[in-house]
Amino acid sequence: MPDAMDQSPEVTVDAVVIGAGFAGLYQLLCLRDRLGLSVQVLEAGDGVGGTWYWNRYPGARCDSESHSYAFYFDEALLQDWSWTERYPGQAEIMRYLNHVADRFDLRRDIRFNARVASAEYDEASNRWHVRTEDGARYAATYLITAVGCLSSANVPDIPGRENFDGRWFHTGQWPHDGVDFSGKRVGMVGTGSTGIQAAPVIAETAGHLTVFQRTANYSIPARNAPLTEEFKAWAKASTAEIRATMHASVNGHAFMIQNRSAHDVTDAEREAIYQAAWDLGGLRFRANFRDILTDKAANDTASAFLKAQIGKVVKDPQTAAVLSNIDHPFATKRPPIDSGYFETFNRDNVSLVDLRAAPIERITENGILTKDGVEHPLDIIVFATGFDAMTGPLLAMDITGRDGVTLKDAWKEGPKTYLGLQVAGFPNLFTVTGPGSPSVLTNMPVCIEQHVEWITDCIAHLRANHIPTIEPATDAVDRWVAHVNDAANATLLPQAGHSWYLGANVPGKPRVFMPYAGGMARYRRTCADVAARGYDGFVLGAPARGALEMTR
Ligand code: NAP
Repeated sequence: MPDAMDQSPEVTVDAVVIGAGFAGLYQLLCLRDRLGLSVQVLEAGDGVGGTWYWNRYPGARCDSESHSYAFYFDEALLQDWSWTERYPGQAEIMRYLNHVADRFDLRRDIRFNARVASAEYDEASNRWHVRTEDGARYAATYLITAVGCLSSANVPDIPGRENFDGRWFHTGQWPHDGVDFSGKRVGMVGTGSTGIQAAPVIAETAGHLTVFQRTANYSIPARNAPLTEEFKAWAKASTAEIRATMHASVNGHAFMIQNRSAHDVTDAEREAIYQAAWDLGGLRFRANFRDILTDKAANDTASAFLKAQIGKVVKDPQTAAVLSNIDHPFATKRPPIDSGYFETFNRDNVSLVDLRAAPIERITENGILTKDGVEHPLDIIVFATGFDAMTGPLLAMDITGRDGVTLKDAWKEGPKTYLGLQVAGFPNLFTVTGPGSPSVLTNMPVCIEQHVEWITDCIAHLRANHIPTIEPATDAVDRWVAHVNDAANATLLPQAGHSWYLGANVPGKPRVFMPYAGGMARYRRTCADVAARGYDGFVLGAPARGALEMTR
């Protein structure tokens, strides 16, 4: 007997795009308006925005500077839009993405509240059959995932959560009407970029905030501020220059890594350089020297400087000691930037619990019990515990490729892609910012634009040449996976053994370094060369006979 989902008629389009964040919006625009394809975007939320739709936690703000956190494909869009602050806040980014959706009339091809449940490739018809959880069905030649790298919330499986009498929230699934902390005893678990942004804002209204820290973290002040009219005018007059810098840089930011070693300068000079970067604030701290991420001794200089700053800010020596007891080299985990994080621990209503000394035993009706027998009474628990990154959102959908092989099976030892763009055995499936691409190691809109444009050009090539399918050759995948590994091992990045880059934050997840650490500029060149060499490393399906005859 057919199940209920089989009842709804299947809608056929050229391409299904999953997700309506930066990636999905631009992919829709490219395929529909540049190639003239019929496109259906399926989006789980009830609005556009992706990451920024879900991450509405207090203090949510982008760590990339606003003049670089934008689409650069359209000069008129760049000229018409003005950011107000050095780093765009969540609400402003949402306004921007809604502006983009309206400006390019994108909404008419997006179905909201449509979470994809499964996608199955049918070889005979060369079609992807996609189902949403509400039973809608789509058939498409091309399936493009634009699901983000950090969209699958990781709520830790701590025993007793279901018995908690208070309320709990994950920062990545934040209620749209906010959370009222006033007078409440709040416990926040997690001190990554999210927790470090959220703590100062929660502390402003909470009766008491208890921060549960497992791994101490570096953080650099953001020094956020309203943008001056002078800066705004400069950014508008300099779009070509900014774009060129972002494309040429290792991380896709609008600044270059200084071409000097930390060993090239005296101790006093180095200290002055770090102090100036600390005062300036932001992610460019790590761009001071070219070897911070490749040479442990160079890294030690930055790590020591940053640890020392904690002691200068935090008044209680015991708290400062726990906050600066950092076990990994600087920037081997994504470095947070903050607005008053360490200062927050000088407030009377904030305390720190060191989970390394006493891990969480369980959640009780009243709060969190740690292994030293102390029960921390709480009304609200905030899990700032991160994401099942990169592979999580893809594996959450039931994706089946050629010969009934599922993506879960194909990736049981970790993600295997070619260029982070395609998976062997999954023809015409493209993964925007997929594992094996620079993605999370870069300023996201820059790598998204590059992927979307590459995919668009690729699909244009297929159609112009009546090529029905593209998928990577398995040996190209193997070579790329090895190269991704080598690129990571050429840096200090794998030294943070508990980072989400390695999948180490999710129990049972294979430990594989997922993003490509070879640098954005090099990666762009590689992708362009592959395309220029006739999609070297990819297997292109034989053109349909009829199509060939028609073109003769
Ligand atoms: P995260 O970096 O994975 O941090 C999660 C935190 O939760 C870590 O401190 C982790 O400790 C802790 N944790 C996880 N499970 C735990 C458990 N069972 N018990 C105790 N502690 C636990 O996640 P995130 O802070 O959400 O950031 C993820 C990424 O999102 C960032 O690295 C960044 O790329 C991006 N992000 C960007 C922005 C921005 O641009 N504004 C803001 C926020 C996030 P361990 O370290 O010990 O595992």
